[in-house]
Formats: sequence, structure tokens, C-alpha cells
Amino acid sequence: MKLSFSPYTLQLRYPFALATGTRTTTPAILVQIHHENLIGYGEASLPPYLEESAEEAILFLSKLKIEKFNPLNIAEILKYVDEVEVGHNAAKASIDIALHDLVGKILNKPCYEMLGIEPINIPYSSYTISIDAKEVIKEKLEKFNQFKILKIKLGKGNDKELITTVKSFSNKIFSVDANQGWIDKHYALDMAYWLKEQGALFIEQPFSKNNFEDTAWLTEKSPLPIIADESIKRLEDVKKAKGVFHGINIKLMKSTGIHEALKMIALARELNLKIMIGCMTETSCAVSAAAQLAPLADWCDLDGVYLINNDPFSGNKVKEDGEIVLGEWPGLGIASFNSISN
Ligand code: MG
Repeated sequence: MKLSFSPYTLQLRYPFALATGTRTTTPAILVQIHHENLIGYGEASLPPYLEESAEEAILFLSKLKIEKFNPLNIAEILKYVDEVEVGHNAAKASIDIALHDLVGKILNKPCYEMLGIEPINIPYSSYTISIDAKEVIKEKLEKFNQFKILKIKLGKGNDKELITTVKSFSNKIFSVDANQGWIDKHYALDMAYWLKEQGALFIEQPFSKNNFEDTAWLTEKSPLPIIADESIKRLEDVKKAKGVFHGINIKLMKSTGIHEALKMIALARELNLKIMIGCMTETSCAVSAAAQLAPLADWCDLDGVYLINNDPFSGNKVKEDGEIVLGEWPGLGIASFNSISN
């Protein structure tokens, strides 16, 4: 096996505003693992709040010596990668994703089949509305009007106004994501009741990622499910969600990839937690990797490709209405456009 990688800047279709800031690009690293005449594609998406820079990710990837391994030994390779250095979750995910793509191609099977996942009962993906001006919200809702479910970002002090704005243009089903933006637990509980009246499905990450105390208080009283995002990253975190959240949003860039995400799903189910599969702004590579796990989820938020305008791959599994379609192509079922080289 031979590993190669290069930085890639994801151009966002709209400046991405949420409780923690606004940005117009997301740094990413595109990874290739070559084996005989096959290539496995991987990706690390590095939004700033993950605190993992492109330079750090590249430095980490440069340290990896995977040539000696047999690609079929995914667990062994990922154990080695994880032990090289702590952190670097997205860079580790890029290796995990490329390996799953490669091994699927070696076995001539789609990833989900290789993982024993049946492509049935797949939830639709939501489309994210970030904290925008009224005209931008209107434009997004018109442009992406086929999506059946929305996820509305809150947490900047104008929560009710945003919901009311979205509802004035659309009567679609929606969830909300406060992105750690709420501070007062009584405000959060009032909002939970109000959002329930407005038809919301659930609330994601109401408080700061370390504020488990107020979250547990809210979860006990809330009429809507409370779902962890930033609070829960890897397998070791899942047990902490019990009694604090109703469920967890698993993202490959947090979990270090598919291999650990599957373990997180199994443990979360044991603990009676709901499962959401989410993504960052990502190309069809990482989104297609996350989509392999979609049949195991209660909810999916895999709109990453619709948030960028320079996807270098074909094969996005998420259709324009949010339906996730897992095809018969081997591996992740994506292809690199010719303009992209390694
Ligand atoms: Mg979130």
C-alpha cells in the first residue's frame, strides 16, 4: 500500500454562520491509498472548531507508515494509526475512509454490504439552514426546496425570529441545533416547549460541550429529545451520554471514521440512545462514507456536499430531496473527476 494526500479547500456555497462564528471555506485533506491497481479515497474535513489544522493533519499523515500492512486488516491498521499520536481525529478518519473504500474495491462489494449493513429503512437527510439574513434563508429554501427535512441552526440570541422566518417560507419538518449557544437552562427549557409547539423533531447540543449538568437537567424535563454533538466525539465518550442526552450525533470526523463509529452505534443502542449520523462540510467522499451507516440511524444530516460548490468526486449518495441511495458500486461508490490528481 502507498499513501498520498494533498490539501483541498472546500468552497462554501454560502458563508456558514453559526453560534461560534462565520466562514466561507473549510480546509480539507484528500487522501489516496494505492494498492496494486486500485485506489481508495479518503478525506479529512477540518472546520476550525475541531481545532485540527490542515498543517497538523498533514504532519500527522506524514508520520504514518502503512506500507507494511495488508489492507484487509483494517482493524489492525487503524489501531496502529490511532496509537501514532493522540488527537487528529479527522486525519485518522481520512485513513479509515480510504481503507474502507479500498477494501470494498478489493472485495468488489459496496462498503455497507462489506460491513453487514442492509440498505433498508434509511432516514432522509436534512438540509441545514444556518444563521442568516431573511433574504438568504428565503433563497436557500427556494434553491433547495426539494429537501423534505430541515435542520435550523440557533444559538445567537434570535432563535424564535429564525424559526418564525423559516416557517414563513416553508412548512417542512425540522430539527434545531443550538451549537452550544444556549447558556441559561430555564431559557432552554422554555425554548424546548416552544419548539415542540412549532413542530420541531429534536434539539442538538443546547449548551457548551462540557456542561453536562445543565444538559442532564434539560434532558430530564424536555418535551423534545436532546442530542449530543460536540459533547460526544469518540467511543470512550458514548457512556457519558447516558442520562445526559437522549441520543448522539455521530460524525466520522469526530469518531476517527467508520470502524469506530460502528462501535459507537452498538454501544449507544445498548444504552438506549438515539442515533444521528451527521457530517461537516464535506465532499462526496466523506459524505458517502457516512451514508454507509445511514441504515443504522434514527436521523441523518448528510447535506455536506450541498453546502460546497467544488465537489471533486461524483457519486453523492444524497439526492436533492434528502433521500439516501446506496448503490451497488464497490467501496464508497465514488469516482474522482479527472482534474484532481494526487
Ligand atoms: Mg451540530
